[in-house]
Amino acid sequence: MIARWWARLRQGREQRSVERRAIADELWRQTLAQLPFLADRSEGDLIRLRRMASLFLDRKEFSGAGGFVVDDASALSVAVQACLPVLELGIDQYDGFVGIVMHADAVVAEREVVDEDGVVHRYDEVLAGEAMEGGPVMLSWADVQSDDAGSPTAYNVVIHEFAHVLDMRDGQPDGVPLLASSHERQAWLAVLMPAYDRFCERVVCGYDSVLDPYAAESPDEFFAVASEAFFVTPRELNEEQPALYRLLATYYRQDPASP
Ligand SMILES: [Zn+2]
Repeated sequence: MIARWWARLRQGREQRSVERRAIADELWRQTLAQLPFLADRSEGDLIRLRRMASLFLDRKEFSGAGGFVVDDASALSVAVQACLPVLELGIDQYDGFVGIVMHADAVVAEREVVDEDGVVHRYDEVLAGEAMEGGPVMLSWADVQSDDAGSPTAYNVVIHEFAHVLDMRDGQPDGVPLLASSHERQAWLAVLMPAYDRFCERVVCGYDSVLDPYAAESPDEFFAVASEAFFVTPRELNEEQPALYRLLATYYRQDPASP
């Protein structure tokens, strides 16, 4: 009885969220037109994505930094792209944070590393986006909008950063999202790591790939970059790394290569 009562309460609350943050038809059409990788999606997927984007806009707090003003169009674009990976997993996957900070352009962050001799090295890192455990997620609007049409590598900074959010749900950014058991974790690594090693060899040999060479940085970046390709250029990823594609299809419970 209590479970049913709770489900009804939750449904009512969600419905009020969706109504509060209803997306105007014209803005929805304009947003989809800028995201060509959604063109193959079924009508049912798009209806659920629109509803989830309303929930996302209601639950998350957007803020502009450095003079950038977040308008309805930029917030919706981020919401739709962020919701795509969790379309089947549920928006609760993002309950661990609230804030999304948007800049007009990429941000230069000062970094510091200490080498094994204890010497501190300082350097600048240019960031198109950044996800931290517990939030906020930082995004550069110039990079959110950039579509590298014609480039052989997939690029989507929103999917990349939100894949990091999913990766960090188990407390560590290591290329393994929160899974049900240590057995599932082992099975995940048994697919991910050989795919990662194969990819690093391709990068060393200078072969083209649907994955950005940045994915060779570490297994967590590999997972985030592979997630970009999974949603933006799924057929190409399936062709190049079929085992990795299947791993992601099972995790995300989506099969965008054969809609
Ligand atoms: Zn990353």
